[in-house]
Parts: sequence; C-alpha cells; structure tokens
Amino acid sequence: FAPIHIVGGGLAGSEAAWQLARAGVPVILHEMRPQRETAAHKTDGYAELVCSNSFRSDDAAANAVGLLHEEMRRLGSLIMRAADANQVPAGGALAVDRDGFSDAVTAALKAEPLITLERGEVTVPPADWDSVIIATGPLTSPDLAAAVAQKTGETQLAFFDAIAPIVHRESIDMDKAWFQSRYDKAGPGGSGADYINCPMSREQYDAFIDALLAGDKTSFKEWEANTPYFNGCLPIEVMAERGRETLRHGPMKPFGLTNPRSPDVKSYAVVQLRQDNKLGTLFNMVGFQTKLKHGEQVRIFRTIPGLENAEFARLGGLHRNTFLNSPKLLDETLRLKANPAWRFAGQITGCEGYVESASVGLMAARFAAAERRGETLPPPPPTTAHGALLAHITGGHIETIDGGASSFQPMNVNFGLFPPITEPVAYDKDGRKYGRGSAKNVARKGALSARALADLALWMDGTKADAAE
Ligand code: FAD
Repeated sequence: FAPIHIVGGGLAGSEAAWQLARAGVPVILHEMRPQRETAAHKTDGYAELVCSNSFRSDDAAANAVGLLHEEMRRLGSLIMRAADANQVPAGGALAVDRDGFSDAVTAALKAEPLITLERGEVTVPPADWDSVIIATGPLTSPDLAAAVAQKTGETQLAFFDAIAPIVHRESIDMDKAWFQSRYDKAGPGGSGADYINCPMSREQYDAFIDALLAGDKTSFKEWEANTPYFNGCLPIEVMAERGRETLRHGPMKPFGLTNPRSPDVKSYAVVQLRQDNKLGTLFNMVGFQTKLKHGEQVRIFRTIPGLENAEFARLGGLHRNTFLNSPKLLDETLRLKANPAWRFAGQITGCEGYVESASVGLMAARFAAAERRGETLPPPPPTTAHGALLAHITGGHIETIDGGASSFQPMNVNFGLFPPITEPVAYDKDGRKYGRGSAKNVARKGALSARALADLALWMDGTKADAAE
C-alpha cells in the first residue's frame, strides 16, 4: 500500500499511526516539535500530556470515559497500553507517569517497521498526498490553520471555544421549570415550546448576581491573554460586572415567558436551556459561557430553581483552542467533505480531552486503513462510547444559529451522548429523583455500559480491520 500521512504526533496522531500499522498500512507521521514549538508542549516526545497526568475515571460501568478506556483496550489502543503500563496511584482514576507514558508511546512508534517518523512542520499537505490525517490539536500551527481555514471557509474554524454548561435533561426538576419558546415562537422545526425555562424571583436573582461576582474564576494563561470576547458570547460573570441588571436584559431576560404554575406573577429573570443533541438527552444553558472554576459553576448554578439537582454533562469554559465546525464539514468517516483526501482526528474535530482525542485518532485510522484496503468500514454503533462521540462530532449535535455563529462546541464523552436504554425519564417521578449515587442511576449507567461493550464486540466481529493484538 502507498503510505498514509499523519500530521501531528500528539495523542490522536500517535494512536492513529499505531492503528494504521496494525492494519498493515504504512504511515509517515509528521511532528513539528522540536523544530517548532507550541505554547504548551515542553518536550519533543510523542503523545505529550500538556497539563494534568490523569485520564480520568477508569470505571467502565459508571463513567463514560472509563467505558471509552475499556473500548480502546479492546481495540488494541497504543495510548491505553502505554497508560496502563505507566499507571500511578490515583484512586478510581487512571493517572500516569507522564514521561514514562510518552517514552513508551515514542518507543513503540519507533519500533514499528511500518511507521516512519519525520520531524518538521507541515504548513499545507502537498497535493500528492492522497490520504492524510490532520491531528494537530488545539495548538495547530498558524500556517497550517490558515491552510485548513482556506479549504473550509474562514468562519468554519474556531480559534477559541466559548462553552456554556450542558445539563442532563433527566436531572432538571420539571416541577419548577417548564417548556416554552419566547413568545411561543416556533422556529424552523420548532414546536413553540422548545426551551426549558427556570424562573427566578428578584431575591433569587440578586443572590445569583452576588454569587457570580464573588465566585472564583480561572485566569487566562499568559499565551491566552489575547482571547477575544466576542459580542454575543461574553462570559456571564463579565456581563454581571458590567451592571447588575445586564444579565436580566441579556440571556436571563424574562420577557415573553409565562410560568404556567403562577401565570399572574412575572418572573424577575429566567434561565433558558436549549436542546443540545438530537436524542434530546442534553440541554445547554443559553448564554452561560463562563470562566468560573468548575466547582463554583456546580455550586452557583445549582441555586437556579429547577437545577438544584442538575447533573452537568459539560461545564462552561473559554480557552484558546482550534476546532472545526465538524457536523457541517466532516462526513461520517471524518473526511473533509470538500476534500476527502483530508481526514481529521483529535481535538481539532471538536472532542475534548486526552482520551477522547486518542479515540478519534483510532477511529480515523481505521476508516483510512479500510479505505486504503478497498474495504468499507461502517462507523461504530452510536450505542458504543466511540460511536456516541463520533455522532456528536459528525452529526448528533443540533445546529442552532446565534448571531450567525455555529453553536457546535467541544465536548468530553458522557452518557448523555448515548441513545437512552428506555425513553427519557425526565417527567417520571422516580426519574426526577435521580441523583449521582442513586441505585437507579448506577444501574442505568451499568446497562448503558454493558450494551456498549456488547455492541462493540459485534462491530469488531463485522470488521476485517480488527487491530486488536
Ligand atoms: P495534541 O496532543 O496537542 O497533538 C498535536 C500535535 O501536533 C502536537 O504534538 C503539535 O506539536 C503537532 N503540530 C501542530 N501543528 C503542526 C504542524 N503544522 N505540523 C506538524 N505537527 C504539528 N486534556 C485533558 O484531557 N486533560 C488536561 O488536563 C488538558 N489540559 C490542557 C491544557 C492545555 C494548555 C491545552 C492546550 C490542552 C489541554 N487539554 C487537556 C486538551 C489536550 O490538549 C487535548 O485533549 C489533547 O492533547 C489533544 O490531542 P491531539 O492529538 O488532538 O493534540
């Protein structure tokens, strides 16, 4: 076979190179470090962990990232093999010795005869590369980013994320919240009752503003100092600093909304949540992008009526990042629709986190290998952690337009991305009582996990490019 080129030897690129080689396809892996540095990497090793040394929970039955670990192990992942071999004590989490981990990945890549390692920046993939996987991560070099933006259109590649928290719908108390669109307007495909509304009295709003102003915020890193605040996505705490009433006239405005439980009493402010995925299991807090610390977000947002027991699938943030508007640009095998010779993998596709990035690298490589071998590989079923993550990236997200900008934002894997085992239970009395540790919730996650591993096995049985060792 002719070689497939991979640009970027991070978490995704390293895993992709390994998977291609296991499938018998030669690879040339291009990494720009050490000739050219990023603002966060410190070594010239492959798969360098730029910050925390944790791969998060390793519990496959209770946590979606733990399930992703297990699926990757079953798919012969190099990243998981190196992580398991370099584990350090961290309770239920999988944490690693970062140097040992990167050294193990580097050694495995070097020892693999089908992998050629080349150092140097790729500023634009040459036209004669008929299959390339771009896995250059959140800190993609500016020249390559410009080349990608030229192919995708300037507005389709973002350089900062602006993340509003996402809540599991079943954890919202619908005895307090209600469904309604502002002025009952039914937009395209809408019913006039598309948003979940959480009402606030004047006292509750005042206390909420005080909490926002006093809350502990994360500061920008030195190299993020120029992070722009775009109109329409200012962090809520910055809006609160501009005046106590600003939020009430912005994302928390109460106009056109009537609480069916007290139609004669006007809410002083309303927090709105909008459906975030096609499954209807996740809702995002509209306009609530924030730099509050994660613990503070949970504490403060749970004071909102209806969100007292909210379970968050994602917390808010604002970072330097580089990611595509993937649901619009990529096909279901991660190829750029406008130029199928380019495939994308890792954080640049709009996943978030070390493990997720590596898993998207794994999938991109398997799709590319099948293509090279003249085979077709169906995407993993959406009931698996891999398939659920892929669906978020390539199609499961609901596209909503706010001020012309795409609403697609990066996401960690979470059980809210999986098709529910039964119909959503948000309005069921028991369902509303689901808490993090409740027996029912634990059983639900266990069932989702068992279904995922069974469906993964079926998918692996049906694929010839099985890379498991
Ligand atoms: P990377 O791992 O960043 O790999 C991309 C590689 O491409 C790099 O080695 C880079 O040098 C190379 N490259 C870039 N441009 C070119 C080019 N033109 N030519 C050749 N090579 C190129 N995730 C977590 O799970 N936990 C954390 O604690 C965490 N902290 C983070 C802190 C910071 C400051 C940042 C920026 C990200 C953090 N992330 C964290 C996210 C993390 O970066 C990603 O989850 C993960 O590393 C992404 O994997 P990737 O393979 O897509 O990109």
